[in-house]
Amino acid sequence: MSEKETDVIVVGAGMAGAAATLKLAKAGQRVKLIEARDRCGGRGFLRKFDGDAAELEFGGAWITPWHGRIRALVAEHGLSLRPRHEVTNRLWLRDGLVCSNGAVSPEHVTAHERAIARVAVDSILLKKGSSENEKGEALRSISFAAYLDRLKCPRPTRDVFSAWWTVSGNGDHNLVAASEFLASCSYDNGLAEGMIRFWSDTVVPGMGALAEAMIAASGAERILAEPVTHVARVADGVQVASAKRIHQAKACVLALGVNQLKKVHFSAALPQAKRDAVATGHGGRSFKLWVKAEGVPVGTLVTGDGSGIEFAFAERKAEDGATLIVCFGLMTDENRPGDPAWVREQCSRLFPNARMVSYDWHDWVDDPFARGTWVAALAGHEDGLENANWQPEGPIAFASSDYAREQAGWFEGAVIAGEDAAEALLKS
Ligand SMILES: Cc1cc2nc3c(=O)[nH]c(=O)nc-3n(C[C@H](O)[C@H](O)[C@H](O)COP(=O)(O)OP(=O)(O)OC[C@H]3O[C@@H](n4cnc5c(N)ncnc54)[C@H](O)[C@@H]3O)c2cc1C
Repeated sequence: MSEKETDVIVVGAGMAGAAATLKLAKAGQRVKLIEARDRCGGRGFLRKFDGDAAELEFGGAWITPWHGRIRALVAEHGLSLRPRHEVTNRLWLRDGLVCSNGAVSPEHVTAHERAIARVAVDSILLKKGSSENEKGEALRSISFAAYLDRLKCPRPTRDVFSAWWTVSGNGDHNLVAASEFLASCSYDNGLAEGMIRFWSDTVVPGMGALAEAMIAASGAERILAEPVTHVARVADGVQVASAKRIHQAKACVLALGVNQLKKVHFSAALPQAKRDAVATGHGGRSFKLWVKAEGVPVGTLVTGDGSGIEFAFAERKAEDGATLIVCFGLMTDENRPGDPAWVREQCSRLFPNARMVSYDWHDWVDDPFARGTWVAALAGHEDGLENANWQPEGPIAFASSDYAREQAGWFEGAVIAGEDAAEALLKS
């Protein structure tokens, strides 16, 4: 049985869906928002930390100084921003020991600095739109592993780049494009280490709360816990089906990431280029976990030795005075972020003098409505995620940070993508 008619159905209540819903509603459209989970926010996920009163972001969190749309939305919906604590204590895990005197030992300093300079030049050339450097070496369509091999840098330098990879490219070194790392280095004149300077604020209470506020302000009809399985073009618009029912509207915004689109069937079928991009997907595969520990000064940043937890930043104090540390590593067969003993062992490597109290995380790769973390293009498949490939198909528009026109991979990109999709439908 068909449901009553709506102007636009928005599928997915992440930040892209929230932005599309708000913009369409402000333009006078009757919007129905359908979300698979029992909450809004998607890969923005604020929830209580295990055994603590604190609510933490288990998905995305940081915004940069130039994320003006998110900043404006935060102000518009009465939320606030928390500045990130400065890095006041920089440590490296090197040859099994935590050191404070630099990423590499003296015999590697020259080669280390040469590699850093090479990355800086490549990153700036990539930002200027070049797909190769002045030596004719590829900057796009090359995996991170192949790029690191080309650098011929000492092992500790490789380890530091690998740590920053867990917060930039964030996937299998052999599969994900090195350009994901170089693009993040470009924020601070090509320096990998400079990335963190631009993670300037987090939203209080959280990104999920912002998405909720935007959706509430839109007045849209909101349906939770209803995964969409089919999208069909019909004579007078679009039908969107779940296992429970069929919804009908004049148009639809699919506010779904490229890995989430894998589970949606289309009739008529999507064009080949979109189908290829969905089949390839993206390779974002980091884990993010929160550790609560005693004996770690806030502001401590430790990068690892290319395995396990590779990146750990002591962000702030919990109510009980212990420190909340945000940690990243890659989802690999060896890493076991779901195993408390493994996490404890990792913490004692990075913080030998600390006591881990507890930890908590969310498995984004296993999550059926995420199927990965933030977007990370596979080497050689970057074009599929270009925004040009995600233009509307008649009354069906597409919106996700994964293939946003600008700031792809960020919440800001999700807002841009959602607003662009709404705009395209309003103009059509
Ligand atoms: C661990 C982690 C850390 C991150 N760190 C940052 C950061 O610091 N800063 C930053 O800006 N970004 C960060 N990101 C990225 C950011 O979270 C994403 O770019 C953004 O949330 C994507 O928004 P979206 O709306 O495009 O997709 P999503 O948030 O994934 O929204 C899609 C929505 O669609 C729903 N859905 C899926 N399938 C269906 C279906 N079949 N039917 C109906 N609904 C469906 C999902 O449940 C979800 O709510 C991070 C992401 C992760 C996972």
